[in-house]
Amino acid sequence: MSSAPRAVIDLTALRHNLEQVRKHAPRSRILAVVKANAYGHGLFRIVDALGADVDALAVARVGEGVSLRQAGIMSPVVVLEGCIDQQELNLAAGNQLEIVVHNNEQISLLQQNPSSPVACWLKVDTGMHRLGHSVNSALNAYQKLASCKSVLGRPRLMTHFSNADDITDPTTNSQWQLFQKATLEVEAEISCANSGAILGWSETHADWVRPGIMLYGVSPFVNGRPEASDLHPVMSLQSQLIAINHYKKGDAIGYSGTWICPEDMAIGVASIGYGDGYPRHAKSGTPVLLNDQRVPLVGRVSMDMITLDLRTCPQAQVGDPVILWGAGLPVEEIAEAADTIPYQLLCSVTARVDFVEEQ
Ligand SMILES: *Cc1c(COP(=O)(O)O)cnc(C)c1O
Repeated sequence: MSSAPRAVIDLTALRHNLEQVRKHAPRSRILAVVKANAYGHGLFRIVDALGADVDALAVARVGEGVSLRQAGIMSPVVVLEGCIDQQELNLAAGNQLEIVVHNNEQISLLQQNPSSPVACWLKVDTGMHRLGHSVNSALNAYQKLASCKSVLGRPRLMTHFSNADDITDPTTNSQWQLFQKATLEVEAEISCANSGAILGWSETHADWVRPGIMLYGVSPFVNGRPEASDLHPVMSLQSQLIAINHYKKGDAIGYSGTWICPEDMAIGVASIGYGDGYPRHAKSGTPVLLNDQRVPLVGRVSMDMITLDLRTCPQAQVGDPVILWGAGLPVEEIAEAADTIPYQLLCSVTARVDFVEEQ
């Protein structure tokens, strides 16, 4: 076997997580979020595996939607950022992409639109303060959009929650209340819930749920929560030990010598580094699975390698398998040790890593 790192993608786990979405939101249709190369898992393999079991796909940008169409994928596709100009609008309409409309410029574009009709989702800003029509202008914007000739069918409505990663935070409920108030007089299908709200706020499920991170088997919550305990990680990032060396008490390990051997000991070197997407900020002590046993990373993460304290693994040998995250070692834990979030780690695995599918 080559010593190159691998990302093993478990498609059975993906389908299991999709079932969890259905279990939590049995009356909602599913808009599966596959932006950013399906959170780093590989867009086409994920879309293929989800197949007809989801009702629509969501991407962030028009280009991502176009690549789905170029690959022959015919499912409904929603572009969450919508279009910035006429050229993008033509591209979206020409590829039968559905677009999110979050400001008046986008409504004007549609009013002048010479291209084919396009299905729209009006986005209301209930507190995220990133994209969306204000709560006060939402009704007016909806009426303008609905009367636009180039809008296909009845526009749908959506909002996005800013704090659904914390189940104790009342913000999600206030956003939900604001959304309902703003859209009271509109008869339209609605979508509010991301993964956090799917697991934590069932009242927000409505017509369409928008699961992202939970499909990939990762908890959306900042603190471990039982609500997310039935998810199975889809990605397992793996490599191998390529060297075992013995050093003396006081020897410094790696760049800048940030870690000093507290006694005579063995140090293992695994072939994975920030050039593969392993976080450079992972601290000494971050766990790594070596032969299914946890050992601590020590010293700085290099571009191609990390160093491991082998004191608890005297039988380790060159060639032994190393798991950086996956089943048995949640990416949530690695994210915490690297002061980031699992979303970023999953999106950051680089093209140098071999992706392998497991059914
Ligand atoms: C990314 C995204 C989602 C999915 O969020 P998760 O936390 O990954 O479930 C849903 N809706 C919008 C608008 C998004 O941008």
